[in-house]
Amino acid sequence: MDRDYDVIVIGSGAAGLSAAISAADSGASVLICESEQVVGGSSRLSGGHFYAAGTSVQKKAGVPDDTADDMYEHYMTLNQWKVDPRIVRKYCDLSAPTFEWLVDLGVQFLPEGVYPSGVSSVPRGHQPGGGGQEVINTLDGHRSHKNVDIVLDARVTELLVERDNRIAGVSINGDKAFSGAVVLATGGFGANQALLDKYYPQSQAAGDWSWYIGAEGARGDGISLGESVGATVDGHDRGLLLVTPGFSQDLEVLFPSWLILVNRRGRRFVSESAPYTVLGGLIEAQGGSAYAIFDETARMNASPNSASQAYWVSDVLQKKAEEGFIKRANDLESLAENIGIQADALAGTIDNYNRDSDLGFDSAFFKSGKLEKIQTPPYYGVEVRPAIICWTGAGLRIDEKTNVIDRNEKPIAGLYAAGETVGNLHGDRYVGGGGSFGPAIVFGKLAGEEAALFAVSRND
Ligand SMILES: Cc1cc2nc3c(=O)[nH]c(=O)nc-3n(C[C@H](O)[C@H](O)[C@H](O)COP(=O)(O)OP(=O)(O)OC[C@H]3O[C@@H](n4cnc5c(N)ncnc54)[C@H](O)[C@@H]3O)c2cc1C
Repeated sequence: MDRDYDVIVIGSGAAGLSAAISAADSGASVLICESEQVVGGSSRLSGGHFYAAGTSVQKKAGVPDDTADDMYEHYMTLNQWKVDPRIVRKYCDLSAPTFEWLVDLGVQFLPEGVYPSGVSSVPRGHQPGGGGQEVINTLDGHRSHKNVDIVLDARVTELLVERDNRIAGVSINGDKAFSGAVVLATGGFGANQALLDKYYPQSQAAGDWSWYIGAEGARGDGISLGESVGATVDGHDRGLLLVTPGFSQDLEVLFPSWLILVNRRGRRFVSESAPYTVLGGLIEAQGGSAYAIFDETARMNASPNSASQAYWVSDVLQKKAEEGFIKRANDLESLAENIGIQADALAGTIDNYNRDSDLGFDSAFFKSGKLEKIQTPPYYGVEVRPAIICWTGAGLRIDEKTNVIDRNEKPIAGLYAAGETVGNLHGDRYVGGGGSFGPAIVFGKLAGEEAALFAVSRND
């Protein structure tokens, strides 16, 4: 069958653009199909942080020698080895070389943007100056420079299969385009309620608090297209939920240091400065809710000290208290009753916390930042839940060459996947900021190379 392109890439996010560029660099003719009218998917909305070990920018930032081996060990341990080692290993091995490829393409990562982005003291998060949009702009510029064609507003509805079960192209509502290989880079499924129910039920535990912050194109098409040709889905119930009081529908990552978090029993259960990568899971383990407690002094002095705390400011807190959204009371016992938690334990918790504040040290949870006593009425309490769906972890099972695996554990000839479409990379815990965008580029670039190799070698 005559082919229109060597490689067709479905999706124009970080994974899809990386795949397209590397396939073109490997000598393939390439088409990208993008369902939306704009390039970039969730990638362009993201911070564009890249989690990698052993990069030139880490060295410039003075990070002591960091290696793929150390990153692998940390990743596996954090997830109690309940992840696919060959995929994690591949990510760790390729994180630095792929990062340098991105730098060579022109994305600026400054040493000041290197930070410990997860549950680790090793700074592996790399923040680009202009966020995900800058990365997308740079990749898209190279895409067009390399004559990679793109069609927007073109949602792929079917994969074409040849007689020998090789994937041979795509169909957009009956309009067919034939190719030697196809890369699925369709992102996650946060915008698809049915798939959230099926593959990420934990994300629905917060009830009507739950909402998805990513792009509309994240409908999980990669999963349904893959399943239609025999692919398997891994990573059940994995993803990243950010914790929120629901003040607004905006990105929230950090809590201010002047509040404490307690559970229904009125006890603290975590350092309020714990990384967002683990906080959602810890609140889930408390029954899905926690309560932020603070006093009038904290409310009056509350001012944003980072973009993600923009809503924990005094006038917003005052307004939310007047609306009854935040509960307020003149004594702790009444506050506990109002929010439905154990009053005697809350009093003891705050007594201990205030004593630690006097000493300037959180002896229970080692919270970082200045401890503020909770002693001035009125007291405030507001429920928080892990409810913002940032990205989804379930997706297609791939091998270390990004080939999509079928139900018999065999690669599906000509079908590759990368980015949030992939399901066997993430564990129960997010490794750190950059742990989704980074691998989208790592596996995107690899998928492009592998798809081109396959397509060019099978040019019959
Ligand atoms: C606000 C926000 C901040 C984030 N910040 C970070 C961060 O700093 N670091 C990090 O690691 N992760 C971050 N993430 C997650 C990360 O951005 C994503 O997981 C990653 O960018 C996904 O890349 P992707 O290429 O797989 O998918 P996407 O970028 O979503 O691209 C997929 C593309 O495929 C298209 N598509 C879907 N179906 C079809 C179809 N049938 N036909 C044609 N096209 C289709 C979509 O429209 C979309 O354009 C963030 C996410 C959000 C929402």
